[in-house]
Amino acid sequence: MNLTVIGTGYVGLVSGTCFAEMGNIVTCIDVDSTKIENLKQGVIPIYEPGLEAMVTRNIKNKSLHFSTDLSSHLEKCDIAFIAVGTPMGDDGSADLKYVLQVAQEIGKHMTHSLIVVDKSTVPVGTADKVQATIQSELDKRKANITFSVVSNPEFLKEGDAINDFMKPDRVVIGADNDEAGKKMRTLYSPFFRSSMDRLIQMDVRSAEMTKYVANAMLATKISFMNEIANICELVGADVNKVRIGIGSDSRIGYSFIYPGSGYGGSCFPKDVKALKKTAEEHGYIAQLIQSVELVNDKQKMVIANKVVKRFGENLSGKTFAVWGLAFKPETDDMREAPAIYIIKELVKRGAKIQAYDPKAMEEAQHFYLKDLKGVSYHNSKYDTLKDADAMILLTEWKEFRSPDFEELKVQLKQPVIFDGRNQYNDALMTERGFEYFQIGKQQSI
Ligand code: NAD
Repeated sequence: MNLTVIGTGYVGLVSGTCFAEMGNIVTCIDVDSTKIENLKQGVIPIYEPGLEAMVTRNIKNKSLHFSTDLSSHLEKCDIAFIAVGTPMGDDGSADLKYVLQVAQEIGKHMTHSLIVVDKSTVPVGTADKVQATIQSELDKRKANITFSVVSNPEFLKEGDAINDFMKPDRVVIGADNDEAGKKMRTLYSPFFRSSMDRLIQMDVRSAEMTKYVANAMLATKISFMNEIANICELVGADVNKVRIGIGSDSRIGYSFIYPGSGYGGSCFPKDVKALKKTAEEHGYIAQLIQSVELVNDKQKMVIANKVVKRFGENLSGKTFAVWGLAFKPETDDMREAPAIYIIKELVKRGAKIQAYDPKAMEEAQHFYLKDLKGVSYHNSKYDTLKDADAMILLTEWKEFRSPDFEELKVQLKQPVIFDGRNQYNDALMTERGFEYFQIGKQQSI
């Protein structure tokens, strides 16, 4: 099929590239001309394992194209995907301005019947707004062209996005029109050679809702476990043992019940807020969802609070080595990363930070921690340790899992580790002579 993907960010670029990999002819469109020029040369703007090679391969075999010009590509296209950002608006709701701008552009330029797909995460009722926006543009130019708006929310995880897209747990298609639903099933069927059961079709509103519920459910598991971690610490229990104790129940399972420094990223924070807002707009106070958010906001400060408890309210003259800036491993994305909040809090109290992240240092330096005095960036995790009073681990990158602890002891002023992701064995750390602080367990020395 001939596809146009509008918005070439994490979702648009990964989706477009994977559709091209399956043999479709895809054009990815963006308003950011620098991004598009770079992509034409195979330079990709994000770190996502496996993506660069797949982009290069598909540019070479002419199935993947990049452009800033939507109008000329709409002429040839069967399906147009809207994959632009839906950032958090001032009141917490999803800001649909980019989605509706694209809908307007489509209405202005479409020349034949096509399927328009909302792939961005959008609140229930957005497909109707996209439909109305396109129709209004068609009416203005008295064009009698039919089209369908389909919801096809994206569930990929940054850091494992290619795998998620190529071998999805499920694809949700919300289509109120049989023909559009059938065409979408045809597009996705190569991704489901063994079982078509995971290609789930439903009505548009339920599909829109499914995306928010999935993210809210995952965020709820994280906040639940973080709350339990805080209680464990108070009562003298070990959350790491409690996690294994409950995860072994198949009704609960092990995934997403790791205690930590809270969730971040481009999706959970904004999607939890947007779902709460949608409920509010319909006269319902979503108390559980509200608490998920509150627990998460507080959780981001747990490690900073432990540092303050250990080193005092005034941190002038103290230096901390920070391992990990990205909101999770295998990505350079720092949107809403706990590291931003923790570093700012420590710097506000006078501390100096020596930071290292395998992929997110540019993001930090040029954007999220730009102009924040007192933060220096280092080329390796060991380079951050010199003259530091303690090491603080904030992202669970694999290279942090089994470091040379002797080197840590030699370089740090004193052997103190704050672990915001519970990566190490508490008893072993004590044996190695570290003062080891983690989430959900009283410190044992
Ligand atoms: P992003 O910010 O990385 O990319 C959005 C892109 O859209 C940018 O490159 C921007 O220049 C472009 N854009 C904005 N307006 C445009 C316009 N009028 N025409 C063409 N391009 C335009 O966003 P993202 O992370 O890819 O997220 C996109 C959507 O997918 C959001 O709704 C998000 O919630 C959802 N989503 C994201 C993820 C994720 O892991 N990032 C996962 C699932 C769903």
